[in-house]
Amino acid sequence: MRRAIFPGSFDPLTLGHHDIIMRGITLFDEIIIAIGKNADKKYMFTLEQRMKFITETFKDQPSISVKSYQGLTVDFCKKVNANFILRGLRNPGDFEFEKAIAHTNRKLSEIETVFLLTSSGKSYISSSIVRDVIRNNGDYTGLVPPFVRK
Ligand code: ADP
Repeated sequence: MRRAIFPGSFDPLTLGHHDIIMRGITLFDEIIIAIGKNADKKYMFTLEQRMKFITETFKDQPSISVKSYQGLTVDFCKKVNANFILRGLRNPGDFEFEKAIAHTNRKLSEIETVFLLTSSGKSYISSSIVRDVIRNNGDYTGLVPPFVRK
Protein backbone atom coordinates (compact mmCIF):
# COMPACT_ATOMS: atom_id res chain seq x y z
CA MET A 1 0.00 0.00 0.00
CA ARG A 2 1.60 3.26 -1.12
CA ARG A 3 0.18 6.00 1.05
CA ALA A 4 1.36 9.61 0.73
CA ILE A 5 0.50 12.77 2.56
CA PHE A 6 0.30 16.12 0.79
CA PRO A 7 0.96 18.70 3.51
CA GLY A 8 0.23 22.43 3.36
CA SER A 9 -2.01 25.22 4.57
CA PHE A 10 -4.47 25.19 1.65
CA ASP A 11 -5.63 28.71 2.50
CA PRO A 12 -7.39 28.23 0.09
CA LEU A 13 -7.06 25.12 -2.13
CA THR A 14 -5.96 26.29 -5.61
CA LEU A 15 -5.83 24.78 -9.09
CA GLY A 16 -2.07 24.41 -8.50
CA HIS A 17 -2.70 22.08 -5.53
CA HIS A 18 -5.47 20.30 -7.46
CA ASP A 19 -3.11 19.56 -10.33
CA ILE A 20 -0.43 18.04 -8.05
CA ILE A 21 -3.01 15.93 -6.17
CA MET A 22 -4.66 14.55 -9.34
CA ARG A 23 -1.28 13.69 -10.84
CA GLY A 24 -0.06 12.30 -7.50
CA ILE A 25 -2.96 9.87 -7.27
CA THR A 26 -1.64 8.06 -10.36
CA LEU A 27 1.52 7.26 -8.33
CA PHE A 28 0.03 6.38 -4.94
CA ASP A 29 -2.82 4.16 -3.73
CA GLU A 30 -3.93 6.80 -1.30
CA ILE A 31 -3.24 10.49 -0.65
CA ILE A 32 -4.08 12.17 2.63
CA ILE A 33 -4.21 15.94 2.24
CA ALA A 34 -2.72 17.09 5.54
CA ILE A 35 -3.59 20.57 6.76
CA GLY A 36 -0.89 21.72 9.15
CA LYS A 37 -2.14 23.74 12.13
CA ASN A 38 0.20 26.55 13.08
CA ALA A 39 -0.93 28.64 16.05
CA ASP A 40 1.31 31.56 14.97
CA LYS A 41 -0.20 31.82 11.50
CA LYS A 42 -3.18 34.00 10.59
CA TYR A 43 -5.44 32.27 8.07
CA MET A 44 -8.01 33.83 5.73
CA PHE A 45 -10.22 30.71 5.87
CA THR A 46 -11.00 28.68 9.00
CA LEU A 47 -9.78 25.11 9.28
CA GLU A 48 -13.38 23.92 8.76
CA GLN A 49 -13.72 25.97 5.54
CA ARG A 50 -10.37 24.73 4.22
CA MET A 51 -11.34 21.12 4.97
CA LYS A 52 -14.70 21.56 3.26
CA PHE A 53 -13.07 23.00 0.10
CA ILE A 54 -11.03 19.80 -0.09
CA THR A 55 -13.73 17.24 0.81
CA GLU A 56 -16.16 18.75 -1.70
CA THR A 57 -13.58 19.10 -4.46
CA PHE A 58 -12.46 15.47 -4.13
CA LYS A 59 -15.78 13.91 -3.11
CA ASP A 60 -15.71 11.55 -6.12
CA GLN A 61 -12.15 10.36 -5.37
CA PRO A 62 -12.29 7.63 -2.70
CA SER A 63 -8.49 7.43 -2.44
CA ILE A 64 -8.14 11.11 -1.50
CA SER A 65 -8.93 12.23 2.05
CA VAL A 66 -8.19 15.19 4.29
CA LYS A 67 -6.94 15.41 7.88
CA SER A 68 -5.42 18.16 10.01
CA TYR A 69 -2.31 17.82 12.14
CA GLN A 70 -0.06 19.66 14.52
CA GLY A 71 3.63 19.11 15.09
CA LEU A 72 6.22 17.50 12.87
CA THR A 73 5.08 16.29 9.46
CA VAL A 74 7.15 13.10 9.83
CA ASP A 75 5.39 12.29 13.12
CA PHE A 76 2.04 12.70 11.38
CA CYS A 77 3.26 10.37 8.59
CA LYS A 78 4.06 7.70 11.18
CA LYS A 79 0.70 8.19 12.86
CA VAL A 80 -1.24 7.58 9.64
CA ASN A 81 1.20 4.99 8.27
CA ALA A 82 2.32 7.02 5.26
CA ASN A 83 5.75 6.38 3.76
CA PHE A 84 5.76 9.29 1.34
CA ILE A 85 5.39 13.05 1.40
CA LEU A 86 4.17 14.59 -1.87
CA ARG A 87 5.22 18.16 -2.68
CA GLY A 88 4.88 20.43 -5.70
CA LEU A 89 7.71 22.49 -7.16
CA ARG A 90 7.00 25.76 -8.92
CA ASN A 91 10.31 27.56 -9.13
CA PRO A 92 13.91 27.62 -7.87
CA GLY A 93 12.72 29.26 -4.62
CA ASP A 94 10.46 26.25 -3.92
CA PHE A 95 13.36 23.92 -4.74
CA GLU A 96 15.75 25.49 -2.24
CA PHE A 97 13.14 25.58 0.50
CA GLU A 98 11.89 22.04 -0.17
CA LYS A 99 15.40 20.62 -0.40
CA ALA A 100 16.24 21.68 3.16
CA ILE A 101 12.97 20.32 4.51
CA ALA A 102 13.24 17.03 2.60
CA HIS A 103 16.81 16.47 3.84
CA THR A 104 15.74 17.22 7.40
CA ASN A 105 12.77 14.88 7.19
CA ARG A 106 15.04 12.19 5.81
CA LYS A 107 17.40 12.70 8.74
CA LEU A 108 14.48 12.34 11.16
CA SER A 109 12.81 9.36 9.48
CA GLU A 110 12.77 6.90 6.59
CA ILE A 111 10.05 8.87 4.86
CA GLU A 112 10.74 9.70 1.23
CA THR A 113 9.64 13.02 -0.29
CA VAL A 114 8.38 12.85 -3.88
CA PHE A 115 8.30 16.04 -5.95
CA LEU A 116 6.12 16.79 -8.93
CA LEU A 117 6.89 19.71 -11.14
CA THR A 118 4.02 22.13 -11.58
CA SER A 119 2.11 21.85 -14.88
CA SER A 120 2.87 24.56 -17.38
CA GLY A 121 0.32 27.31 -16.94
CA LYS A 122 -0.13 26.67 -13.19
CA SER A 123 3.26 27.63 -11.82
CA TYR A 124 2.24 31.19 -10.97
CA ILE A 125 -0.74 30.12 -8.83
CA SER A 126 -0.27 30.33 -5.08
CA SER A 127 -2.67 30.61 -2.15
CA SER A 128 -1.14 33.95 -1.16
CA ILE A 129 -1.84 35.45 -4.60
CA VAL A 130 -5.40 34.09 -4.48
CA ARG A 131 -5.88 35.70 -1.03
CA ASP A 132 -4.59 39.00 -2.39
CA VAL A 133 -7.01 38.87 -5.32
CA ILE A 134 -9.92 38.02 -2.96
CA ARG A 135 -9.01 40.85 -0.58
CA ASN A 136 -9.01 43.30 -3.46
CA ASN A 137 -12.28 42.02 -4.94
CA GLY A 138 -10.61 40.65 -8.05
CA ASP A 139 -11.78 37.75 -10.18
CA TYR A 140 -10.14 34.63 -8.72
CA THR A 141 -12.40 32.12 -10.51
CA GLY A 142 -9.66 30.92 -12.85
CA LEU A 143 -7.31 30.16 -9.95
CA VAL A 144 -9.34 27.82 -7.71
CA PRO A 145 -11.52 24.67 -8.15
CA PRO A 146 -15.29 25.21 -8.69
CA PHE A 147 -16.36 24.53 -5.07
CA VAL A 148 -13.94 27.15 -3.71
CA ARG A 149 -15.40 29.70 -6.16
CA LYS A 150 -18.74 29.49 -4.38
P1 ADP B 1 2.61 25.97 2.47
O1 ADP B 1 1.68 26.52 3.46
O2 ADP B 1 3.57 24.91 2.98
O3 ADP B 1 3.26 27.00 1.55
P2 ADP B 1 0.74 25.39 0.40
O4 ADP B 1 -0.61 25.03 0.87
O5 ADP B 1 0.91 26.73 -0.24
O6 ADP B 1 1.73 25.08 1.57
O7 ADP B 1 1.28 24.32 -0.64
C1 ADP B 1 1.30 22.94 -0.40
C2 ADP B 1 2.06 22.26 -1.51
O8 ADP B 1 1.49 22.60 -2.76
C3 ADP B 1 3.53 22.67 -1.63
O9 ADP B 1 4.29 21.53 -1.98
C4 ADP B 1 3.54 23.64 -2.77
O10 ADP B 1 4.80 23.68 -3.43
C5 ADP B 1 2.49 23.03 -3.66
N1 ADP B 1 1.91 24.00 -4.59
C6 ADP B 1 1.23 25.12 -4.30
N2 ADP B 1 0.89 25.78 -5.43
C7 ADP B 1 1.36 25.04 -6.47
C8 ADP B 1 1.34 25.21 -7.89
N3 ADP B 1 0.78 26.25 -8.47
N4 ADP B 1 1.93 24.24 -8.63
C9 ADP B 1 2.54 23.18 -8.03
N5 ADP B 1 2.60 22.99 -6.70
C10 ADP B 1 2.02 23.90 -5.92
